[in-house]
Amino acid sequence: MTQFELDILIEKDPYHISRKDPNDAEVRLFLREVEYHCPICGKELQSRTQSKPRHKNFQIAHIYPNRPTIQQYAVLHNLERLGKTSEDFENKIALCHSCHSIQDYQTTKEDYEALLSIKKRRLEQNALHDAVDEMYLESELKTIVDCICKTPISELTALNMNPVHVADKFEDRDALILSKITGFVTQYYTFIRDLFREQDGKNGFVFNALCGEVRSVYLKMATLSKDKEEIFNQMSALIKRKTVSTNQTACEAVAAFFVQNCEVFNEISR
Ligand SMILES: [Zn+2]
Repeated sequence: MTQFELDILIEKDPYHISRKDPNDAEVRLFLREVEYHCPICGKELQSRTQSKPRHKNFQIAHIYPNRPTIQQYAVLHNLERLGKTSEDFENKIALCHSCHSIQDYQTTKEDYEALLSIKKRRLEQNALHDAVDEMYLESELKTIVDCICKTPISELTALNMNPVHVADKFEDRDALILSKITGFVTQYYTFIRDLFREQDGKNGFVFNALCGEVRSVYLKMATLSKDKEEIFNQMSALIKRKTVSTNQTACEAVAAFFVQNCEVFNEISR
């Protein structure tokens, strides 16, 4: 293929539009998306002491090139592309300088697909975050998280049965997250259930209404992702934000309670 032929192909392809540099607000979104670290090599993209994002360790890279070279076009043109145009948020990602230059000039099919799947995962996490963030969580939950943090293990009554129910909701590939949730359920289910029962009916708190809400959020997340671990993590993170808790593990214990109690994941797999 000649450069002239490539130019005609690109001209005809509505995916290719003129380059648009992201503004400061968009740059912040790109950095937040990768949690301020290069998603390829893990290098920090913006240090805490750095105030101006313009003096930077990063670049906003195109995943599918804005102007592919003949060689890049030959390798990439049949592969999946994200976004409606090359300038969409979906087709860009923050990278460190060295990963960007490798990705920019020596694009292989494998590198492209790896970066594409990193971006897809980040987009999915964002969508889950937004879905879960719509949920209103009663202030009772804060009391519960605080109680979990304060109660010594000797005061907990371990669940007298095997939480088979939980195992039914997962497949073999979910082994790690299953064993985590099973651990929480075995140790904390009874305790959390009793705390909720104590609060039920007081100050307008209706436990069943909360369960219904949790379920509907889980179901919405299931339409966005099949990754149960990610769904569980987003749920725990939501509980952590809304209860302003500093204890991640206590929030995971509550999320595990919901998995066991609110018919969550088995609805999803049906
Ligand atoms: Zn890097």
